[in-house]
Amino acid sequence: MDYPSSQFGVVMFRCTNELKGLAIDTDSFTDIPVEEWNRINERIKCVFITSDAGTEKSLVAAFGNEKVLYIPQFQMKLSPNRTTHKKVVNILKSANFDIAYVSGNYNFVKNARSFLSGSIWVKQTVDYRNTNILPDLIVDDIEDLLKAINENIYGFFGESILFPNSLDKGIILFVDFDANNNPIKLITAGRYFPSYHYMAQLHPYSRAIYLNKQTDKPYTGLFNEKFAGIYKNIINFLKEKTTIDGVCSVPVKPNKVDNFKYIIDKISKDCNIENYNDKFICIKDYEDQKALSSGERAENIIGVFQYNGDLTGKTVVIIDDIVTTGATLRECVRTLKKSGAKEVIAVVLAINQIGPTYWRATPLISCPYCGCEMILRVAGKGQNRGQFFYSCLNCFHSSGKNSTKKFKTAWKELSDNEDSKVEQIAIDENQIEENWRGNL
Ligand SMILES: [Zn+2]
Repeated sequence: MDYPSSQFGVVMFRCTNELKGLAIDTDSFTDIPVEEWNRINERIKCVFITSDAGTEKSLVAAFGNEKVLYIPQFQMKLSPNRTTHKKVVNILKSANFDIAYVSGNYNFVKNARSFLSGSIWVKQTVDYRNTNILPDLIVDDIEDLLKAINENIYGFFGESILFPNSLDKGIILFVDFDANNNPIKLITAGRYFPSYHYMAQLHPYSRAIYLNKQTDKPYTGLFNEKFAGIYKNIINFLKEKTTIDGVCSVPVKPNKVDNFKYIIDKISKDCNIENYNDKFICIKDYEDQKALSSGERAENIIGVFQYNGDLTGKTVVIIDDIVTTGATLRECVRTLKKSGAKEVIAVVLAINQIGPTYWRATPLISCPYCGCEMILRVAGKGQNRGQFFYSCLNCFHSSGKNSTKKFKTAWKELSDNEDSKVEQIAIDENQIEENWRGNL
């Protein structure tokens, strides 16, 4: 299937046509002539990063000294780091928020992801193992990058659709996912930042996914309609390329409420495909995956699902909200294939961003009264229902005063704040594993 780079209407907090500068990891691209870079440079201010003396020479000849940033080989491995970032910001004379890093190298993209700047990965196929730290935008090639800059693209389709005036374009990502030697396509509409991640409180999409599935809250199920819309868009897109016979979600444990019922029914009806959920069931009350490591998860889930029917020759879409290790999804695919399914395509709202971050952005949204970190929340009722705002739990608990800030106001403050910066953090893999278990 062709990878659609900018398929749907959409909005995130940053848009490609608002970008004021690009920092390009030139070494990660081969065979890109200077004229190609010049097409980008004519459109948007660029700084070219290289650790190769020959490349530096030809770039300087074409663009002048001030546009080329030479980084010694040994430092390039950790780039972009704080030192590189400072130089980049100086050269581009733009704020953190107005620039994006561009690279074809996943490690570079991973490091760049830790800044409050944008990150763009130039890559045609993405393997699931390279998705636990995803950039804001992924494009096929330089041509696609230029196209993205010329259009209003806000990153991932799902992440941007939560905003009311989202009329522009976003991407969905096709990922190669290996389900027990069954290679399938996993399509994601966005990223999920778990609560320990510094981005969690800055990312409405993650909060929406998290809050939507809480039980008995005013906001429970609040985003069902939007999420159904995301799945529907993707399935309709797939239907243009191939035959889709039916849809199902990951079966819930025996006697548990199915949070996906409304969404699955709606997708099945609106996309005019079969609903396989009645036949796809969970036959064992297995231990909660949240509390387990990735190895334990795979073990824990074996044989818990059953399909009571024949799927011979059928193409099945399985949907889920967040995919983490992929263990549950693998077992679902195995079960559906065992029942005859010709092809299984997974469509998820988000891939969990559980990878370690080497750099951390500060400050977060702070309370104007007490200075504590504010929490991103959503109004479950009233005239602002469905709207995001920041709230200080400390003030509320200590004085009963409900200190709040509008989402847009807080973002504006954050992006205007000259002190928004990055700091290196010590990586403690155990702590990350711990956080991961506790916060999914
Ligand atoms: Zn406060």
